[in-house]
Amino acid sequence: MTLRLTQLIGAHARPAKSEGWLDVHEPATGARYALCPDGDADDVAAAVEAAQAAFPAWSALPTSERAHWLHRLADALQSKLEDFAQAESRDAGKPLPLAREVEIPRAVANLRFFAAAATQFASESHHGQAGLNYTLRQPLGVVGCISPWNLPLYLFTWKIAPALAAGNCVVAKPSEVTPVTAWMLGELARDIGFPPGVLNIVQGLGPKVGQALVDHPGIKAISFTGSTAVGLRIAATCAASLKKVSLELGGKNPTLVFADAPRTGLIDQLARSAFQNSGQICLCGSRLLIERSAYADIRDELVARVKHLRLGDPLDAATQQGPLVSQAHYDKVLGHIELARAEGGSVLCGGHAAPPAGRCENGWFVAPTVIENLGPYTRTNTEEIFGPVVTLQPFDDEDEALAFANATPYGLAASIWTSDLRRAHRVAERLEAGIVWVNTWLERDLRTPFGGMKQSGLGREGGLDAMRFFTDSKNICINLG
Ligand code: NAD
Repeated sequence: MTLRLTQLIGAHARPAKSEGWLDVHEPATGARYALCPDGDADDVAAAVEAAQAAFPAWSALPTSERAHWLHRLADALQSKLEDFAQAESRDAGKPLPLAREVEIPRAVANLRFFAAAATQFASESHHGQAGLNYTLRQPLGVVGCISPWNLPLYLFTWKIAPALAAGNCVVAKPSEVTPVTAWMLGELARDIGFPPGVLNIVQGLGPKVGQALVDHPGIKAISFTGSTAVGLRIAATCAASLKKVSLELGGKNPTLVFADAPRTGLIDQLARSAFQNSGQICLCGSRLLIERSAYADIRDELVARVKHLRLGDPLDAATQQGPLVSQAHYDKVLGHIELARAEGGSVLCGGHAAPPAGRCENGWFVAPTVIENLGPYTRTNTEEIFGPVVTLQPFDDEDEALAFANATPYGLAASIWTSDLRRAHRVAERLEAGIVWVNTWLERDLRTPFGGMKQSGLGREGGLDAMRFFTDSKNICINLG
């Protein structure tokens, strides 16, 4: 039976006002399995109205009570963790263990973390010579949160949790490609009696619902995660009315491997950083730069490892790599591989579609692909592919490694693999990236700033940065003389 999703507007779960529907496909099979409301500007207007009506009461609640609601939502999500993990795996094609062990637990953690952060953030005060000087952090009003398909609930909660905790009401738009778990979270919110209108979810296409959200004068800020192309458009629209905007965009992240890198577990980590979630994580290392003296060994070991990655049904717990998220993305990734060949790249493994037999034979699978012999300024090495494709380049010294690493318009993340701590600090300082890992990858502490330089974004999320983004400061100075 085809699942019919709804939008959450005020207290009501309902279809789009237009009564239009979008098909939702299962990436592992290519089959349609759900219908998503095809929302538009009318639905956004209704959601903003509901959020505006809820704002006075929600923002006036003591922070501890708002935190309590977020904890209740987290408890409800935790109690349904397996249902959400199965749904996320099916909707996005990601291996079930990744959803079950990482992404849904992280969605729970996002809600709990910002509930706690908000209680420590309300105001600061300074006693000066003349009297009392204090700064309030006040919620903005109604804010818009727009999230992508690659880590659906994880990134959805990463935005709504700080926005709500800080006292804002939210109109959120999940990706139309993976709308299911946001819909399920909306249902949970209704089940637990979350105050109506505080969290609204409008489903539909980016150019319709997303654009209407960005255009709406009642929306005070936009928090966006997605592609650089869309982020640039959003920034331009927000500039016209000075709407506050935070942008988490694409990446083309370098992985710098020096010959003295600790070898235990290295190849597994390099394979993980390139191919986790089929390379569809903005933080994946898609350009592997290897010091020349270690190049041939690491290349050969990596290729041998990658050939053994188990592609298969994401709902099978033994699967290590699932399909790509959509037909359009699958076509785009295969097109990039053709481009790499045309640019003179040598494909060492993968490079083709690879649907497993049986239930998944029509799914959007691409074999994990390793390519060498491409210069640092080729399109393959400078454009985001966002799939299971990694390129290898040798370098001769630190300066050359840094020149290659920084040779893209992006600046999101990087990792450095070396046993020389001085070098790690030196190189980390010169990398153009908002996040740098040394001898590790994807370690995240929710308190630390998250975001990119250059075309990878504007602003930072996480910890106090998120609380600052979703509030305005007001300094009040009182003469007590
Ligand atoms: P996308 O830009 O196509 O879509 C992201 C969201 O924006 C979706 O909800 C979409 O419906 C909406 N949207 C599309 N057009 C819009 C418009 N004109 N106005 C307003 N909203 C619009 O990105 P995607 O394909 O869903 O996600 C993949 C991209 O996201 C990659 O580039 C990836 O690097 C990036 N990403 C970045 C981070 C980060 O933290 N920096 C994290 C995850 C993904």
